[in-house]
Amino acid sequence: MEIPRRYHAPKMFANLTHKVVKSHGRYYNLIMSNNPIPSDAELARLHSRRQLPAPAPAYLPTGLNSPLTVNKELYSKIQSAPRVLEKSFTLPIRSGQAWTAPAGSIIRISTPEGPQVGDLNIWNQHSPSERFWASRTRQLHSTHLTTHDRLWSCLPYMRPLLTIISDSLSWYGTDNNGGRVHDLLGTRCDPYINHLLSGGQSYDYHCHSNLVRAVKDFGVEEKDVHDVINLFQVTGLDEKGRYCMSASPAEKGDSIEFFAEVDVLMALSTCPGGDLSLWGFGAESEKEMEKCCRPLKVEVFRLGDSAFLEREGWKPAEVAGYKGNHGLAVEP
Ligand SMILES: [Zn+2]
Repeated sequence: MEIPRRYHAPKMFANLTHKVVKSHGRYYNLIMSNNPIPSDAELARLHSRRQLPAPAPAYLPTGLNSPLTVNKELYSKIQSAPRVLEKSFTLPIRSGQAWTAPAGSIIRISTPEGPQVGDLNIWNQHSPSERFWASRTRQLHSTHLTTHDRLWSCLPYMRPLLTIISDSLSWYGTDNNGGRVHDLLGTRCDPYINHLLSGGQSYDYHCHSNLVRAVKDFGVEEKDVHDVINLFQVTGLDEKGRYCMSASPAEKGDSIEFFAEVDVLMALSTCPGGDLSLWGFGAESEKEMEKCCRPLKVEVFRLGDSAFLEREGWKPAEVAGYKGNHGLAVEP
């Protein structure tokens, strides 16, 4: 079949298997996956789908009073207001630690010695059943978070637990592979998938295990450890929609800061994959990856002026007002 030049595979797909087919007088350049070659009827459906206009983001704020509209002026003021250090610790490589932070405080997580990924969990300090909901946060904001995005809690609570007030990597944007930083696409590494993928090996210092040990003394159990935000981690999807990771772009002194919208319990793991430049599964990889592992630093501050937030009209976030009837009949 003679293929007109304009239907040749785009350069970016040159290294992938592709096939040009002709259907209903049109040429289609198909990037091959594991799926069989489409039939004529399927190609006709594909063609009709291709006429769709670009959709708008599904959860854009609808106005100034939308809960998704962050008062940027207020959060900039909070970020630059004088603050007092309340607690500080450095988390060694391949470990986990939990801490509490009251509503109205600022939590800063930084890379004191260079690039390192940190897996973060968040709960309501007083009720671990209210915890960070990564997938809803991804829908409300983006697959990767930055300044003025919020970290929302699960049902039946649905309120912001934290708001990001600064991010020294906000310049990163989208790299040449479509990767972005501070990942909500993936989750924590864990010993169960490692056991499966490494042919039966056991390793006890994956992020999931580090988080389990970290929160044990706070009365939080393994089942309460949840999908994380992967701080300082670059991820994206490849041309087939598969999850991909690149080395962290963080340098010594990079940081991200959160403002606590409620009293929170937080737990952080220094990922055993370090900055992810040597990622792999199995004992050999674990040894190799230690070369790119570094500590993370956590600091919790209170604002120096204790009346500042009240004066600015800020209040702790409230749970969503839905009564929770779900259409169930009420007994007389
Ligand atoms: Zn990890």
